[in-house]
Amino acid sequence: MTWHVLDANVIIHGTEIELPFDEMVTVPEVTQEIKSDRAKQTFDIHKIEIREPDNEATEEIGEKAEKANLELSKTDIRLIALAKKINGTLVTDDYEIQNLAEQINIPYKTFLKEGIEEAKNWKRVCKNCEHRTDRKTCEKCGGETKLVPEN
Ligand SMILES: [Zn+2]
Repeated sequence: MTWHVLDANVIIHGTEIELPFDEMVTVPEVTQEIKSDRAKQTFDIHKIEIREPDNEATEEIGEKAEKANLELSKTDIRLIALAKKINGTLVTDDYEIQNLAEQINIPYKTFLKEGIEEAKNWKRVCKNCEHRTDRKTCEKCGGETKLVPEN
């Protein structure tokens, strides 16, 4: 039996697509991020459990995310910490979460998108002008940046 730690997107899309996982769990914050009633029903239908990660692991992972210059929310960090605590597999299409999971050896699965093999083949680009950068904010246009797989 493997615990699958789901992010909010997976649960939202899980209303339309079957969730093919046995034991499912998430953190309390995810329930707050979910606004639609249908997505809330998904919790009951699939019996998704809600668990808390350890504070210590959450802090540790938060520091690693900062060092790796990753754009991760508190919820993202707590999801990763929960996966670590229960030896679970993360289920997420978020590249930033996948990247950190890869770096700290937490298994993950993608849901809608195809996953990427290795963390070293990633690049960060601006969402507006596609300028390549290492920063979270684009030096050229001030836009937000995102992590994408490099082909
Ligand atoms: Zn830009």
